[in-house]
Amino acid sequence: MYHHFRYNKNKSRVVYILRDILELSVYCMSDDRGNLMDKNKTETYYILFEKMISSMTNYEGFERSEFVGILDEICELFRIAKGVTEFYTSLSNEKAGQGEILIDHDNGRGEKVVVRRRVVTKTMAVIIGTLYMAEGDEPLTEDEYLKVDLILRALLSFVSRNRLQGAVEMLGFFDDAGYPNLRSYNRCLEQLNQKRALPGHTALHFNLRHFSLINSDVGRRAGDVVMRNYFNLIKEVIGEDGIICRMGGDNFIAVFENRCTTQIEEIMKGVPVSCDITEDNRVMISATAGFYVIPDGFEMRNEEDILNKLMIASVIAKRDDASSIVYYDENMLVRKDQSMRIQRIFPKALKDKEFRVFYQPKVDVDSGRIVGAEALCRWFREGRIVPPMDFIPILEQHMDICQLDFYMLDCVCKDIIRWLAEGRHVVRTSVNLSRKHLVDVDLLEHIMEIIERNQVPHQYIEIELTETTTDVEFKDLKRVVKGLQEQGISTSVDDFGIGYSSLNLIREIPWNVLKIDRCFLPVEGDSESDVTTLMFKHVVSMAQAMGLVCIVEGVETVRQIEILRENQCSIAQGFYFDKPLPVEEFEKRMEEACYRVPECE
Ligand code: C2E
Ligand code: MG
Ligand code: MG
Repeated sequence: MYHHFRYNKNKSRVVYILRDILELSVYCMSDDRGNLMDKNKTETYYILFEKMISSMTNYEGFERSEFVGILDEICELFRIAKGVTEFYTSLSNEKAGQGEILIDHDNGRGEKVVVRRRVVTKTMAVIIGTLYMAEGDEPLTEDEYLKVDLILRALLSFVSRNRLQGAVEMLGFFDDAGYPNLRSYNRCLEQLNQKRALPGHTALHFNLRHFSLINSDVGRRAGDVVMRNYFNLIKEVIGEDGIICRMGGDNFIAVFENRCTTQIEEIMKGVPVSCDITEDNRVMISATAGFYVIPDGFEMRNEEDILNKLMIASVIAKRDDASSIVYYDENMLVRKDQSMRIQRIFPKALKDKEFRVFYQPKVDVDSGRIVGAEALCRWFREGRIVPPMDFIPILEQHMDICQLDFYMLDCVCKDIIRWLAEGRHVVRTSVNLSRKHLVDVDLLEHIMEIIERNQVPHQYIEIELTETTTDVEFKDLKRVVKGLQEQGISTSVDDFGIGYSSLNLIREIPWNVLKIDRCFLPVEGDSESDVTTLMFKHVVSMAQAMGLVCIVEGVETVRQIEILRENQCSIAQGFYFDKPLPVEEFEKRMEEACYRVPECE
């Protein structure tokens, strides 16, 4: 006997549906009860049902238009005027009427509900299917009803699977704010890689500049709009062949065809972006970006392949001294390895006393007398002297630099105490402290502990700090400089003139000394009216008017000494007198009492 539909949880629904269809067709041929549809109609139903199952389970992908076509035919066969499916992700969304409603068939005559099925899935999603007939049409026979119900149930099971798959996909491949995430990115790379299409594409990682400031300026909500608009701008350039994803915070990653690169570079450099829908308010948004042009023949072995390269370029782009757009090249990897090596060997090198202090005299340009010195670090490694530029920036990437600076300060203290004990003439000596120290809330105590432990009279020590760019650092800097001042320790602004020199920095912080960088110093051939010459003049006279001592760094020529004299700036530090010297040589210079200086004109 024919059983309409049996459902066994252990077996696939489709197997049962197909078996029922088979039983049904055999049954229809052997019996001829009035309640059943005629053979032709049954055959049509069978064919349509098979078509529907085949369309729903197509490996190549689901074709909605084809599927709707089949449903239309089925509906016609059973006099169904309208078919509607609803999908809600939760019971509360169902209550609130917040879901997706799809009308799969509608001939405009459907008024009477004939079948309504509501399914609640294990994840509490709700799927509802409703079929309508026209009021006057012949009602469904019992047999027709069972068939229509079977179709509806098959349809709902398919819709629920499809929708849930979509929901899972959304959770896995998008973040909370709806941006595609790293998984989407990797999937796109995989697809391109499979087609061997990665060459011809460029990968990009970027970070929005000062986005926390934008957020505090325009508010968080407007900040979200800005981010979304900036994202969309790039997405539009990329088009279909590529992707842009958010990695988290204000970090993004993208891959696109090489032809998009110029346009995207322009966007990275800075564009006005609106913070509301009306586009009345616009803010300038730029980014620091690492690009990687994927080379010919490139095949991705794993997901990190491209990401690692991007991060190397992006980290370089983020350093404030570098360009904000950096293209990856293989040398960067070599340099990264070198820098990792330096970080690895640093602790032992420090313990083994491979770092030594060199002293560069600060000289009074009128008398030629040594009036001070700067302690500069040299690394003696495997019989070679490594210059600071080869290791200081690397140590500054982490907090390693702080250990080195304290070590240098300690060595200088020990030299000063020895000189005093030996009855030598001693001058104030400055020690460089990296900006990295500013995060240390106990910095002042640490400096004083070293000086006190060595029992160095405070007037012999000076601390050099460079300018800062952020508000937070500014506050810390002010606190530290003030604290040192109260202890009678002199402080100097190092490298004034490079970077973002701010007049506020010298007005609000009680420095003793301004060290003017050599980029401010006019060179041979610069005339009186050159901008450099003018700026030098004014910076010196302004600093002096504020009661600061000016020291000019990088003095190399007679002409430069004359310029210093012309501007009543009396202290110079530079190769004209000496390079940084090993301690024994520096001690000899101190004994010689003074340098020969050029005669005044
Ligand atoms: P800085 O503090 O501005 O030091 C002055 C630099 O200018 C020194 O480079 C010095 O050798 C160089 N210099 C001096 N006179 C002349 C000149 O006439 N012409 C030219 N072209 N250069 C001159 P050095 O020793 O290579 O140090 C470079 C930088 O490394 C220093 O710049 C400082 O920022 C950093 N540094 C050195 N030692 C230390 C240290 O112990 N701790 C920290 N944190 N930084 C250090
Ligand atoms: Mg210095
Ligand atoms: Mg300097």
